[in-house]
Amino acid sequence: MNFTKNYADRLNKIPPYLFAEIDRAITKKRAEGVDVISLGIGDPDLPTPQHIIDALNDAAEDPKNHRYPSYTGLLEFREAVSKYYKRRFNVSLEPENEVVTLIGSKEGIAHITPAFVNPGDVVLVPSPAYPVYEIGTILAGGSPHIMPILSENEFKPNLSEIPGDIARKAKLMFLNYPNAPTAETAGREFFSEVVDFARDNEVIACHDNPYTEMCFDGYLAPSFLEVKGAKEIGIEFNSLSKTYNMTGWRIGMVSGNADVIAGLGKIKENVDSGVFQAVQHAGIAALNGSQECVFENNKIIQKRRDFMVDSLNELGWDVKKPKATFYLWFKTPDCSKSTDFAKKVLDETGVVITPGTGFGKYGENYIRIALTQKLERLKEAVLRLSEFKF
Ligand SMILES: *Cc1c(COP(=O)(O)O)cnc(C)c1O
Repeated sequence: MNFTKNYADRLNKIPPYLFAEIDRAITKKRAEGVDVISLGIGDPDLPTPQHIIDALNDAAEDPKNHRYPSYTGLLEFREAVSKYYKRRFNVSLEPENEVVTLIGSKEGIAHITPAFVNPGDVVLVPSPAYPVYEIGTILAGGSPHIMPILSENEFKPNLSEIPGDIARKAKLMFLNYPNAPTAETAGREFFSEVVDFARDNEVIACHDNPYTEMCFDGYLAPSFLEVKGAKEIGIEFNSLSKTYNMTGWRIGMVSGNADVIAGLGKIKENVDSGVFQAVQHAGIAALNGSQECVFENNKIIQKRRDFMVDSLNELGWDVKKPKATFYLWFKTPDCSKSTDFAKKVLDETGVVITPGTGFGKYGENYIRIALTQKLERLKEAVLRLSEFKF
């Protein structure tokens, strides 16, 4: 039997997941014997710090952690999140009803739409962006309204350009700073504009903040929840994935407006059974422990950033040093289409870079490099790129 013709309409509306396609291309190249250097997906190559692994091991030995966890998460983990927000951002959160543990922030982002979006409802989605904002909207039967984020506007959406009727109809708005894929940052002033917009239009602002700790040159990224009124209209997704090199562990959190959190919780209560408690204990160790590991991590990424940006500029490519995230986002040096350029680079050098269009149509003519390889491999990548003819 071939069941692909039985796919639901919503499945047929989903464009191919870019990273799955890139994975297939990599597998093919490797099978051909090519030494592939992947600067593609944003998955840290550095290990999870030892004290976090130790906390997992200890907690895994305790039979009381072997049972179903609660879908809202261990209160102790939510307290650790609340303490982190207080210490780092001076934001007060009630661990009981303003924080929920997530199976990675991707899970929460994908589940916020079925909680608040009816078929036909509008969701404001930036482009380029992390693909889940738009796909989650489509899965819920909603209608994404694309907000272009362009270099001339420092990769922020122009809120005054959103038509009034669309703004009033919108249920949710997704934002993400420090941003993937553009590596742009946002200040409190922009977040304040978002709060005003959300309040005026009764839109729930969903800020995605997984790179809040991955900052360089002394820059400290703010939380959306720091801004006055933010908790009345919005929530913030956060994650331990990038901060502590824990992408495979699947643990994140959402904080903010209690009604919104409760709505998301209602979906979660019915579709999942929470995060393995031993992983939550590891998360507690991460949040409550010394943050020296985060500092050391950022030092390594900053070195890679400096090497890569300086080297690419020497090759005549126009690349800027980002203040945050482990991404470089820049125009294709020959002004060619993103996918053509990325394909040519892979074919001729074995280096994987991500075409900007994988993040939406406003990513056209851009490419993204993830700094998720050791310095020696980056040096090898630059060597190959220096011989690349376009
Ligand atoms: C990595 C990433 C996430 C997902 O993080 P998880 O917590 O691992 O699910 C969410 N948003 C953006 C923008 C990311 O880059």
